[in-house]
Amino acid sequence: MSTIGFVGLGAMGSRMALNLHQAGHKLCVWNRDRTKLTPLLDKGIAPADSPAAVARDAELVVSMVADDIASREVMLGALGVVGAAAPGAIVIDSSTNSPALAREIAAAAARRGVAYLDAPVLGSIAQAQNRELVFVVGGEQAAFDQAQPVLAAMGRLTRRVGPSGAGATLKLVNNMLTGSVTAALVEAAQVAEAAGLDRAAVSEILGEGAAGSRLVKTKLPKIFQRDFTPQFQLELMEKDLRYFVALAQEVDRAVPLAALVRSQFHAARRAQLGKLDSCALFLQATGEKAPG
Ligand code: NAP
Repeated sequence: MSTIGFVGLGAMGSRMALNLHQAGHKLCVWNRDRTKLTPLLDKGIAPADSPAAVARDAELVVSMVADDIASREVMLGALGVVGAAAPGAIVIDSSTNSPALAREIAAAAARRGVAYLDAPVLGSIAQAQNRELVFVVGGEQAAFDQAQPVLAAMGRLTRRVGPSGAGATLKLVNNMLTGSVTAALVEAAQVAEAAGLDRAAVSEILGEGAAGSRLVKTKLPKIFQRDFTPQFQLELMEKDLRYFVALAQEVDRAVPLAALVRSQFHAARRAQLGKLDSCALFLQATGEKAPG
């Protein structure tokens, strides 16, 4: 058992923190919106007043916040984790951030003798709940090895894929694919419906086909049922595609497909669909009103 600090109790973080608690780790948690602390405090988990307070007594800190802006604040801000963590501590950042920010935080942490791992996850709410996340990690091998038991309490597979920023990079490549497949599903669903196909048959058969994937199996039925309750918010997908396109520019590669898909998600976000599930891109494409 080790003392673990946890920052960010959103849809993903709250479930990951509970799994650490259930695995017997002693936890101390912080979230910007303090109302989200309640379910964890009810289980006897200790609250903290700031990310710095979370980090002060922790051997290891996990963070799961929205984006670069949030991570910069909770890691490098005046009351951030990096400035407060003790030398020798390990920070596991599972937020989906840009590789550039991951490297910047890792460098700031290293100056204080703190190891920072960019460790974004594949999987959504169900996988977070069921300890089935896949951690894609960038950073020092020794810190990665030390973090193994903690990662194992939240996921089913953990891979170190390179130095700082490598985990963030591979995660963006993954989400370029998931964003593009989601956009393709939106078009497929529209044509299948307009052509009068039976929706259940479409979901079943496409799930069996060569393109069949977890996305096909989960998002297509959601689109057909007009169920846009968020698993993965559209605005987070738009953010990931934005970071991917910026990364492509950094490495001097043309990504016309990703740029197009990003512009579609961008328009949907600007149309106030950002808090719905990523498959609410369907509403933007069809002009249908959001249900409810
Ligand atoms: P979420 O439910 O919206 O949670 C976002 C968290 O970030 C909340 O704790 C929020 O605090 C915090 N936050 C946002 N801005 C902040 C700021 N400026 N300062 C401090 N905290 C801030 O999102 P989520 O679905 O859990 O996603 C979290 C991360 O995981 C994102 O990077 C996302 O891309 C990634 N991810 C999500 C999924 C998924 O399926 N949902 C899958 C893989 C990866 P408040 O509660 O105060 O707003």
